[in-house]
Amino acid sequence: MTDSKKVIEILKAIGDKIQEQKDFLTELDNVIGDGDHGINMARGFGKVEEKLPTLEGKDIGTILKTTGMTLVSTVGGASGPLYGTAFMKAGMIGAGKNEIGMEDFLAMLDAATEGIKMRGKATTGEKTMLDAIVPSIDAMKAEYEASQDAKAALAAGVKAAEEGVEYTKTIAATKGRACYVGERSIGHQDPGATSYTLMLTIISQMI
Ligand code: ADP
Ligand code: MG
Repeated sequence: MTDSKKVIEILKAIGDKIQEQKDFLTELDNVIGDGDHGINMARGFGKVEEKLPTLEGKDIGTILKTTGMTLVSTVGGASGPLYGTAFMKAGMIGAGKNEIGMEDFLAMLDAATEGIKMRGKATTGEKTMLDAIVPSIDAMKAEYEASQDAKAALAAGVKAAEEGVEYTKTIAATKGRACYVGERSIGHQDPGATSYTLMLTIISQMI
C-alpha cells in the first residue's frame, strides 16, 4: 500500500492541509472551546514538517514515532498528547517496516484509537475526535473485508468520518473543554473530529 517515502510525503501533505485549514479549525474551536485547535495543530505539524528531511530513509515506525513525540512536545492543548499518543502507538506497529499494507494500516489505527481512549478517557458519543475515528475504522474494515481494495476502503472511511463529524453536531460534549459549554455545544461540529477527517482525506487521496 505504501512505503516510508510515501509516508513522509503524506505527512508533509497533512501538514500543508492543516496549515491551510488553520483558521477554519480555530473558528470551530472558538465556538465550543478556547479557539486554539487550528493554532495547536498548525504549530505541531509545522514542527513535524521541519523534522521530515531528517527522517528520510528511516523505517515507518521511526517516522511515526518521531511525529508523535513532536506533537506531544510542541502542542499545549489536549489534541497534542492525544494525536501524539496516536502516532506513537501507530509507530509501534510500523517498527522496522519500510512498507505497509492495508492490514498494517488498520492495525495502526486500532492501536492509535486505544492510545487516544487510554490517554483521554473518552469514548464515542462524547463529541470528540473519536466520533469520527471509530466509525471510520469500522467502515474501512468492512469495506476492505468485502473488496480487498485499499482505495475503496479508505473512501468508505472518509465517508464515515464525515458522517461522524455531522453526528458531533447533534450531541453535547461531555469530554474536553467543550463540556464547559454543555448543551450549548449542540449544533456545532467538533474541531478534533474535523481535523482527523482532514488527515484521513489526505491519506485517501495519496494511496
Ligand atoms: P484544547 O481542548 O486543550 O484546547 P484543542 O483545541 O487542540 O485542545 O483540541 C480540542 C479537540 O480535542 C476536541 O475538539 C476533541 O476532538 C479533542 N478532545 C478533547 N478532549 C478529548 C478526550 N478526552 N478524548 C478525545 N478527544 C478529545
Ligand atoms: Mg482548544
